[in-house]
Amino acid sequence: MRESDYRAQSFWHESVPGSLAPRPSLAGEQTVDVAIVGAGYTGLWTAWYLASLEPGLRIAIVEAEIAGFGASGRNGGWCLGSLAGLEVVYGEPGAREGGIALQRALFETVDEVGRVCEREGIDCHWRKGGSVTVASVEAHRRGLLEELDELRALGFGEEDYRWLEPEACRALVRSQGNLGGLFTPHCAALQPALLARGLAEAVERRGVRIYECSPALALERGCVTTPNGRLRAETVVRATEAYTKTIRGHARALAPLHSLMFATEPLPEAVWKEIGLPNRETFGDPRRMVIYGQRTLDDRLAFGARGAYYFGSRIFDRFSEHAQAHRVVQEIAESLFPVLRGQRISHRWGGALAVPRNWRPTVSLDRQSGLATGGGYVGEGVAAANLAGRTLADLITERDSERVKLPLVRQPAPAWEPEPLRWLGITGVRHLGESLDRADLTGRPRPRLRGAIFDFFVRK
Ligand SMILES: Cc1cc2nc3c(=O)[nH]c(=O)nc-3n(C[C@H](O)[C@H](O)[C@H](O)COP(=O)(O)OP(=O)(O)OC[C@H]3O[C@@H](n4cnc5c(N)ncnc54)[C@H](O)[C@@H]3O)c2cc1C
Repeated sequence: MRESDYRAQSFWHESVPGSLAPRPSLAGEQTVDVAIVGAGYTGLWTAWYLASLEPGLRIAIVEAEIAGFGASGRNGGWCLGSLAGLEVVYGEPGAREGGIALQRALFETVDEVGRVCEREGIDCHWRKGGSVTVASVEAHRRGLLEELDELRALGFGEEDYRWLEPEACRALVRSQGNLGGLFTPHCAALQPALLARGLAEAVERRGVRIYECSPALALERGCVTTPNGRLRAETVVRATEAYTKTIRGHARALAPLHSLMFATEPLPEAVWKEIGLPNRETFGDPRRMVIYGQRTLDDRLAFGARGAYYFGSRIFDRFSEHAQAHRVVQEIAESLFPVLRGQRISHRWGGALAVPRNWRPTVSLDRQSGLATGGGYVGEGVAAANLAGRTLADLITERDSERVKLPLVRQPAPAWEPEPLRWLGITGVRHLGESLDRADLTGRPRPRLRGAIFDFFVRK
């Protein structure tokens, strides 16, 4: 790809100042202590913490495209102190305390991202305005209040989660039919590509080598093979998330799901009065197909929704062929904020996030093979990848920290089924989720059996 192609990946990429021209590729053979595959947040944070903990360590990253090419450069920019599947962790035998500790570590991670950005001079527009999950219909309101009860039972107080009555909620998010919302202060909005690109420069300043346009073809014990070179290393970190299928033998480790976004032109203050988000709060609602929005520093609305899985784990990096899906995302945004009708959309894009077979993110290090992994964030990896990177650095340098005891550290999920079962399963669950969302949004009774099947596949 040329630099202009990288710039065209998303609004975020387009607005990164400076060059997106690829760094040199790996050529020949090199020996390092830690080889990292993938220069998204997971790979870059792992490198940053390793280099900070042990400045003498030789660390190299190989990246198939450019740093921040994947989800890390294109996401919704919610740096949220939460993690997919956390409610399941609480329910696991003996895991309640670990789940609470993990949740608290994620809260703290939001500030850690802000702290490191400040220290490294990464201006990624980090702003901790919190996040609101808005109830647009009665089923949402009931579900959110139940969730709040569960959070209270786990010991999280008003300082972590609080219910906003409709008037207070509308002061933050003026969406249609707003029946109140669940607010957490543990979220910052940021410009994702600026974070990824800034981190890449920060790790280079600490002596980490980044080789771009250097896809890993195979990971063997102590060795990463790319088309024109090899990295030999005692530890190899796989940080390739939705793209993991591109590595020989790892095709079924994670399933890529697409998520689609758009950004408006900068909106005038009169329009923002109708939308809200005075402190750049992020917002969504509890629908299963997941929607997310933020107000950018230059007053655009950046909004997205979860999309499809494609047969054979195919990943799209160009989104011109997704016009219909983008229209649906836009319609959802307009139904929440009718004032958006007629406003100009300046950018449309999308990306792939990774779903593990058990829907639970993990960090792991197999000391026998030297292979470490971090990821499977199911679309909630902006903050989580920082915690994963810190934890991987602790594991690799054999630090007995509190982090390595968190339930994030566990065996990676089992492999997904071969096709066509994978496609049938994921697509089936997606349609179930959509039909449950439709029932909620239209006030029809929730089909119980469908709800139970959806929960079985997504939560268990
Ligand atoms: C549209 C969208 C919106 C999202 N919104 C949010 C959000 O608001 N909040 C949130 O918390 N999460 C969000 N997510 C998820 C979040 O972006 C990811 O969880 C996170 O960025 C994952 O980081 P990563 O480094 O693990 O993966 P990635 O950023 O995908 O990085 C993987 C890297 O590996 C490289 N690579 C792939 N194959 C190879 C190979 N064979 N060899 C070498 N390199 C390779 C890729 O080019 C890529 O740069 C969103 C995701 C998408 C797609």
